[in-house]
Amino acid sequence: MGDSVQPVSLEAKNPFELRVDLGRHVPETDVRTALATGDMGFVHSFTTGSTVDGPGVRVVAWLTGCQFRCLYCHNPDTWRLTNGVPVAVERAKAELGKYRHGLKMMRGGLTVSGGEPLMQDRFVIKLFTAAQAMGIHTALDSNGYLGDRLTDEELEKIDLVLLDIKGWDAERHHRLTGMDVGPVLDFARRLATRRRPVWLRYVLVAGLTDNPEEIDQLADFTANLGNVERVDVLPFHQMGAFKWKQLGIEYTLQNAEPPSKGIIDRVCAQFRAAGLKTY
Ligand code: SF4
Repeated sequence: MGDSVQPVSLEAKNPFELRVDLGRHVPETDVRTALATGDMGFVHSFTTGSTVDGPGVRVVAWLTGCQFRCLYCHNPDTWRLTNGVPVAVERAKAELGKYRHGLKMMRGGLTVSGGEPLMQDRFVIKLFTAAQAMGIHTALDSNGYLGDRLTDEELEKIDLVLLDIKGWDAERHHRLTGMDVGPVLDFARRLATRRRPVWLRYVLVAGLTDNPEEIDQLADFTANLGNVERVDVLPFHQMGAFKWKQLGIEYTLQNAEPPSKGIIDRVCAQFRAAGLKTY
């Protein structure tokens, strides 16, 4: 097991580069060992200079593997684990080490996103442990479904959780993602109990995730948690649409427009009315 020949650069300008089958050659037993130990991760790409994935200027590791199938997913090439490049954790730590001084100067840090990073929970924890040892701020961008894979002690390795709650209503969440919302909300409550800092992320699609009653209920839930520092309302866009086409997956939102300013303002106002800060 270990790094093999790298067919593409690990660094990408942004996560919208289509990447497939880069880890297909890794034997099944090595994949299982990697998931169990975290000694190797499957990485779609690293990007640098992000100012939208946590505080300051950040390096973002985009991992592959996701158990959700969000209708609006911008990166469906991250769904399959073996679409990512196999990267030894020691190599990932060394890459991160190159940025440690710059990240501190820019009050930034490391964000691990995906895909769903907790599909590779052991790799994530090893990376965050190393990052914290270097004095680098850590943020996990997660749909929260697999939060119970982390021990309370491991939660301390995450300085900030960017929690993506896809929808409040159970039926809508299932229709939107293919998965239940219950474990996501359980993780949100647990983070609140442990007083871990959270930013809520909410993708706004007109006609799909903008129902006023559901937004009010989500806003109340979020405000009552007491640990959510801000809410990022993320307007849907079509930048990932080409990936669905190229991957041959049916895309049902081809005619969906980005939400209007009026809808964005209304949803932000609903979160603010519950006492939350929105961006
Ligand atoms: S959780 Fe994220 S990566 Fe997974 S399907 Fe949804 S939007 Fe895509």
